[in-house]
Amino acid sequence: MDWPRPNPRPLDLVSYSFCAAHRRCPLSVAYSRDSRFSRLNRPRPVASLGNVVHSVVERVGRNQYGGIESTEPREIVKEIWDHEAAKQYKLLATSWTPAEPPSPPDWPQYALTRTRTIREMTPKVRLDLMARPAPDGHRCEDQGLGPLPWRERELIDEVRRIHGTPDLVEMRGNEIWVVDIKTGAHQGEPSDEQVWQLLLYAHLVQLKTGILPSGAAIVVPGGGEYPITVSQVDVDTVVSEAVAIKEDFNRQEVAAVNGFRGTPSETACGYCAFRLVCPSYAEACEEDWKVLNTLTGVVTSVVGEWPSLNLEVEVQGPRWRQGQSTRIVGVSWPEEVGPGRSIALSGFKSRHDWSLVRGEWESVSYVFPDQSVDDQQKEGRLRN
Ligand code: SF4
Repeated sequence: MDWPRPNPRPLDLVSYSFCAAHRRCPLSVAYSRDSRFSRLNRPRPVASLGNVVHSVVERVGRNQYGGIESTEPREIVKEIWDHEAAKQYKLLATSWTPAEPPSPPDWPQYALTRTRTIREMTPKVRLDLMARPAPDGHRCEDQGLGPLPWRERELIDEVRRIHGTPDLVEMRGNEIWVVDIKTGAHQGEPSDEQVWQLLLYAHLVQLKTGILPSGAAIVVPGGGEYPITVSQVDVDTVVSEAVAIKEDFNRQEVAAVNGFRGTPSETACGYCAFRLVCPSYAEACEEDWKVLNTLTGVVTSVVGEWPSLNLEVEVQGPRWRQGQSTRIVGVSWPEEVGPGRSIALSGFKSRHDWSLVRGEWESVSYVFPDQSVDDQQKEGRLRN
């Protein structure tokens, strides 16, 4: 298999999510910064649900009730939720056209998360409606940000080129706290990654207010709070790591010599959209890994009209299926394919023996670059 290698754009501003993805696997962020692979990286319902929660919290936090017809606090939050859910669904559906992703009520954890968020936000709306004055704010050094609390304000360290958007920065008595909202159904004590995120946010808040936050916490709407201790030493360590990750990523000469390193594992690859094109995954994956079905293969015959083609394929990967013949149906392909072309597919349903593979709404297809065209172009260039 001739695997396409990523040629990523350099990074200017580094964020927590970039660092987290880089720590899981440097190769995955290299793919994510090369537009040739962007079609593989589409939103999924879990991420869309998280975006709905953040949008609702942000709108309520900023008193943005434009276009809302309800007058009762709980109904106002419900209306905002439904509006934001419709927006996220539209984005999801557009990304997956012509496939039809499930509608919001069928997203994992949708009903529970909606109920919890509405319960959490309703008292805040009630306060707004009573037009109570905002609690005493800590006026920060950066006047553009206004007094605390800050909800979903982007904060930038212009010198180190780090940015982040904490869900909430607020005063608790005389202390500044950083809060991040998580919607995961199994959220408990913050993971190492979440602690890292909170500490990076603490740095950005310290930079803007001149004060190191006294604490930080992960909050699950209606489901508890998990605080962590914030120390200057830990914050400085995380900031150094973020800067080092950015420098490492941008060191193009290192990338050119070594290539971006893939660090495959069941967890990292399970979340990764680039399994279809990743040689590290193909080499490392095991039959018992719980990841979405992924195959690569060489087309032996084609029936139907593009884009919905039925293909016979000789499987190349996973290696325990290598050499077997599989028919692929119900998949939309990004370009015409003929016999001899290499293809990849993920997120499909299959018979237990893989004699037949069927596309699902979340199937992602890929056609590898035509090697014969590449070879001809190279030959032409040499002759010229
Ligand atoms: S599939 Fe696995 S090894 Fe490959 S880029 Fe993604 S996380 Fe890294």
